[in-house]
Amino acid sequence: MTALDLAQDYLTRGKLHDLPEGHFIDGKFTPAGNRKMESFDPGRAEIFAEFSLGDEAQMDKAIGAAERAAGHWRQVSPPERCRILNNVARLFRENADRLSVLEVVDSGKTLAEAQGDVQSSARLFEYYAGAADKLDGRSVNLGTAYTAFTVREPVGVTGHIIPWNYPTSTFARGVAPALAAGCSVVAKPAETTPFTALVMAELLSEAGVPDGLVNVVTGLGSDIGAQMARDPRIKQLTFTGSVNTGVSVAQTAAPNVTRLTLELGGKSPLIAFEDADPEKVADGAYWAIFSNSGQICSAGSRLILHKSIRDDVLAILTERALAIRTGHGLTSPDMGAVNSRQHLARIKAHVDAAKARGANLLAGGDVATDLDTGKGWFFQPTILADLAPNDPAVQEEIFGPVLSVQNFETEDEAVSLANGTEFGLIASVYTNDVGRSMRIASAMDCGQVSVNDYWAGGLELPFGGNKKSGYGREKGWEGLDAYTKVKSITISNAS
Ligand code: NAD
Repeated sequence: MTALDLAQDYLTRGKLHDLPEGHFIDGKFTPAGNRKMESFDPGRAEIFAEFSLGDEAQMDKAIGAAERAAGHWRQVSPPERCRILNNVARLFRENADRLSVLEVVDSGKTLAEAQGDVQSSARLFEYYAGAADKLDGRSVNLGTAYTAFTVREPVGVTGHIIPWNYPTSTFARGVAPALAAGCSVVAKPAETTPFTALVMAELLSEAGVPDGLVNVVTGLGSDIGAQMARDPRIKQLTFTGSVNTGVSVAQTAAPNVTRLTLELGGKSPLIAFEDADPEKVADGAYWAIFSNSGQICSAGSRLILHKSIRDDVLAILTERALAIRTGHGLTSPDMGAVNSRQHLARIKAHVDAAKARGANLLAGGDVATDLDTGKGWFFQPTILADLAPNDPAVQEEIFGPVLSVQNFETEDEAVSLANGTEFGLIASVYTNDVGRSMRIASAMDCGQVSVNDYWAGGLELPFGGNKKSGYGREKGWEGLDAYTKVKSITISNAS
């Protein structure tokens, strides 16, 4: 069945075929057990399935399986790892329709967004398949008395704690480099989006990934997620989620000195100078904040405009925001649902507070529904203009389709506004002045800067934050560093 057939079938019957049951441990699905949690379709605000809540024993079994499998996998030849990871990419593509429709129903995003996520997941496996046989060390010059070189060794069992906004591609961006480097995996998807990781684990197994090498246990973060952070058998923990949970994970993992990658929140700025084209700026800002209903850690949630182009940019952007059609992700809307009832309430509380403070509301500002069914958890595309630097709508991550706008006159002022939050994930600057764009790029305290575009770059570029946006890098060649340990070896050349 094509994605459209699957979508039509779901919209008519309210059910999905072939939902995985139980956890994926040691190469197979375990029995579902009695502890279960309901899974909601955010586009309808209705329950569509149940999934298993993992317990301590199940997580323990998954980590044990991963530990056994890691010993074998590190000895599998790099070309063989490469072949298996390429098989994974092929199977993701062959199953893209099923995975994408499942992701829409589980997360609330649009079908086009989910299809993009599945394709990126396949690309991540291809990219890191190509790295599996290139993890070389280097020869080090210590003079004639020694021969010295380094090797990169796999770290062993790796844990992956996954958020709900990009369930498929966050799984792939951690699991693919871990496997390429010779590590094994235990993954825990978020409570509201448990299903695609289970399907992906099954496809990995079908592609030739040995039993026990990739395990997925679904359940509560406070329960089995914290258990992962505590377990000394996990040698690297890759966490993507909120700052508070990231801090808690780091504290829990500290006694074992577990290696950590923290991909946390953001409040990323798009700065536009007086020489920028207002149409291009408005287009960049539109996609930066309204893609995935604004639930993106690197969303462009702060628009920082030179006063001379403020009115032109906001006129275009407001018109486009007001025209957005929200709807169930399988009905080709412009914007999908937000992920949960609780998250919708959080977004609304932020915007209500901004309105109560007298914010200049140019668009949106309230909850919405699917225009056809009157159901679902949606938030109107919202623009709050002319905010002061210390306004909570400027400082706090709202993680929804809510844009805050600030104005500036000088370059120094723009830099100070852009760097003026506790986050530092990405930034973008629109200007035709090359020198100025490079000065801004250098001044930004964040992990990535784009000039005259917002979502520039792909999985080949390292991605990660500064400040409270976290540490460590995923994607790109640097994405392998978390999963390898460098060892230096010296040989005395003495006779
Ligand atoms: P969250 O922190 O609530 O949950 C993230 C994951 O952590 C979930 O799997 C959850 O079950 C688990 N978890 C919860 N409590 C835990 C605990 N005590 N120990 C171990 N694991 C625990 O975040 P969320 O609401 O799922 O995601 C939204 C946040 O994630 C936003 O702040 C967003 O910016 C951030 N995020 C960052 C990136 C990035 O790459 N920087 C990407 C996506 C999302």
